[in-house]
Amino acid sequence: MAAAGPALPPLREVIARHGLAARKSLGQHFLLDLNLTDRIVRAAGALEGVTAIEIGPGPGGLTRSLLQSPARAVVAVEKDARCLEALAELGAAFPDRLRVVEGDALEMSLSELAGAPRRLVANLPYNVATALTLGWMDQLAAAPSLVEGFTLMFQKEVAERLTAAPGGKAYGRPSVLVQWLCRAETLFDIDPRAFTPPPKVTSSLVALTPRPEPLAPAPKPALERITAAAFGQRRKMLRQSLKGVTGDPAGLLQAAGVAETQRPEDLPVEAFCALARALASRDQR
Ligand code: SAM
Repeated sequence: MAAAGPALPPLREVIARHGLAARKSLGQHFLLDLNLTDRIVRAAGALEGVTAIEIGPGPGGLTRSLLQSPARAVVAVEKDARCLEALAELGAAFPDRLRVVEGDALEMSLSELAGAPRRLVANLPYNVATALTLGWMDQLAAAPSLVEGFTLMFQKEVAERLTAAPGGKAYGRPSVLVQWLCRAETLFDIDPRAFTPPPKVTSSLVALTPRPEPLAPAPKPALERITAAAFGQRRKMLRQSLKGVTGDPAGLLQAAGVAETQRPEDLPVEAFCALARALASRDQR
């Protein structure tokens, strides 16, 4: 992919010229190896005719690979104003292909950023990666055809949480809220040395593919309350932890067909959905 585009200065030179010393507060760990950024874009699947939305382009390594992909356009959201000049230079090398939006991606709606079809591809800022992903799940619950797919880099530990099956320590609230709406799969790991500066931990690239239908029907606010209460005390049995959402946890569990002695980490997503439906129907009474 990289070979097909216009001649561009090395990323290290771009970083030096624009004074883009990495800031920890913005979760900045840059990818400078364009073979790796190409690999990430290839892993994002078919981009023909799709607008690629990138969160946190930074100096623009992954952005270059996206611009050289068949995506019809790239919309890149960056909070760090120091990067804007470098990104404007990159945009000039690919006329009418790159739109940079300055601001906090946590506050943005994907549907307002770009027209459909959309795919998200990003090396996420680790300090807000889970919050961003759960925010996108909110948006996806409200608009099921919002995004064709998400290809996102996380800390490995977070990736494990998002992709975990019931029955282990990694399975928790993010696993349920994400897998309710998406198939979640780790594509490959990336060594810390691939980043500048290197983070302390290994990273993983994760594919989240929206399901045609949620795994089971559930009102999202009730699903959020149930999972917060259950995983807030994850070692307790549900008859204890669900006291946080109802005065009658035994009745709620019975209505949902879930054993009182279950612990949340063993409960499949569908069972959380049954609990959410039971909670919502009680709230309506
Ligand atoms: N994409 C670049 C790469 O792969 O080299 C940079 C990735 S770096 C891990 C994360 C980027 O997200 C940084 O450029 C950072 O400034 C930006 N960022 C951090 N918080 C953000 C937020 N809330 N909204 C948008 N961008 C953010």
